[in-house]
Amino acid sequence: MEGDLAALGGCASSGSDDQGAGDEGGRIVCGRCDRPASACLCDALPDEPIRLERGCGVIVLQHPNERKRKLATVPVLTKALGSCDVLVGRKFRAGQEPVLDEAYRSAREGGADVFVLYPGPGARDLAREVAAVPRRPWTLVAIDGTWQQAKEMFKTNEDVLLPAGVPSARRVSLRPPEGGIRMPLRTEPERGCMTTMEAVASALGVLSDAPDLEPRILAPLAKLYGVQKGFSPSLKARAERGIDYKGSRRQRLVAGGGGGGDGGGDDDE
Ligand SMILES: [Zn+2]
Repeated sequence: MEGDLAALGGCASSGSDDQGAGDEGGRIVCGRCDRPASACLCDALPDEPIRLERGCGVIVLQHPNERKRKLATVPVLTKALGSCDVLVGRKFRAGQEPVLDEAYRSAREGGADVFVLYPGPGARDLAREVAAVPRRPWTLVAIDGTWQQAKEMFKTNEDVLLPAGVPSARRVSLRPPEGGIRMPLRTEPERGCMTTMEAVASALGVLSDAPDLEPRILAPLAKLYGVQKGFSPSLKARAERGIDYKGSRRQRLVAGGGGGGDGGGDDDE
């Protein structure tokens, strides 16, 4: 799954050997986690990016606007998870992205599954799907954008993501997390919404046999949330107050459930 991301226009990178701090725009930036040195996440990151089972991986289709968000979770995800490719764009075509092509080639040949994480009518429960099919390599595809962006991206790319005649490529959703939002980095539209990183980690928890996979992936996100609470009075207040729902149409409905998305909410930073 480690494609040539620069050539793909993607932005994922899986950790770095360079752990020195750089200076970006006058503030010191950690050379490993790319966060400000005062908010470094490195002690919560795994020593090496987590590898999934052989032949398995994650592809995040990221709306171009998500790259600008300060509190985006996908950059943290790609530091924690080795088998994760991020493809930036609105429209994806067959023959354009080698990692996507390879996943769908395997699915067409019947040797692998593709699970497209996107909730709504027509989405099947991921846990039930996993229980119903024999264990074999899989690719998890998630969309990273606001609710509206993700909706448009799913619609635009549906023929590529769920091609006719490929039954092992399926649209799936997650069961709502118990207790609502776990780490509300932004105000979320309603109970059960998750950031992209939480949604991917939750899906991997279902797909993988390793019970510690989900908490290991989420550890740096928990650190990010803890650090941001220290910087952001509104985030701290929200955490103390409990879960806060905003109901904005700008924001991405994720679980309940489903896919990825960091919402279009406030970037409390
Ligand atoms: Zn760091």
